[in-house]
Amino acid sequence: MVGNWKMHGRIHDNATLLIEVAAGASALQKSVHVGVCVPCPYLAQSQALLSGSVVKWGIQDVSAHTGGAYTGEVAAEMAADFGVTYAIVGHSERRAYHRESPELVATKAQRALEAGLTPIVCVGESLEEREAGKTEQIIGTQLEAVLNVLTEEQAASIVVAYEPVWAIGTGKTARPGQAQDVHAFLRGKLQAKGASVANVPLLYGGSVKPENAEELFGQKDIDGGLIGGASLKSKDFLAICRAAQTVMLH
Ligand code: PEP
Repeated sequence: MVGNWKMHGRIHDNATLLIEVAAGASALQKSVHVGVCVPCPYLAQSQALLSGSVVKWGIQDVSAHTGGAYTGEVAAEMAADFGVTYAIVGHSERRAYHRESPELVATKAQRALEAGLTPIVCVGESLEEREAGKTEQIIGTQLEAVLNVLTEEQAASIVVAYEPVWAIGTGKTARPGQAQDVHAFLRGKLQAKGASVANVPLLYGGSVKPENAEELFGQKDIDGGLIGGASLKSKDFLAICRAAQTVMLH
């Protein structure tokens, strides 16, 4: 269960949120893995407040470069200096607003892996693409670009998040069956890369809330969630984590 704070947070509010999430997550079964991807300036704060807790922290993007004259960029190695576990790559907001191509996202996934981070590779289609029947074509291309540049061993170490663009921050959630169909398609692609890649965790993201979490996570190929808006409130984020736990225990 990974929170994506996006460009939200201020140092004072973060402290309360991080402490509450760490406290709540400590009551979960160890098999429920919890992380929060925070804006870069708060990586040190996250490290200070979450070290020793069960909650891991992450970054929301990494540079495709390892270092050099790239003003404003952050290398995966730099994030690793702050004990980061996860690196989101290819979030739809970056693909749309920063024109990140499938190939660029693949390079970013490689850089993250080389720095010892776990890339959370986001894939998803827009509403127009879905309505044109292109969902599998779009997300297939996005995932294949990443799988093509990774060895089987590297590919087995990634996390994939299906985030339909039309469901992100809109309050519209994919119906559980709709999400499951896409996850089953992604699972097939992962399996084709190698037996060890088939078990890569597949997260669903897009307006997950405490009220819809259990039904979504109850789907066969949905292993967890990438949670945007609801991860900014400890009560909601923890309720979503507990929903995942309930599903796992059944
Ligand atoms: C996201 O940004 O990754 C996301 C899923 O956002 P939300 O939960 O707010 O739709």
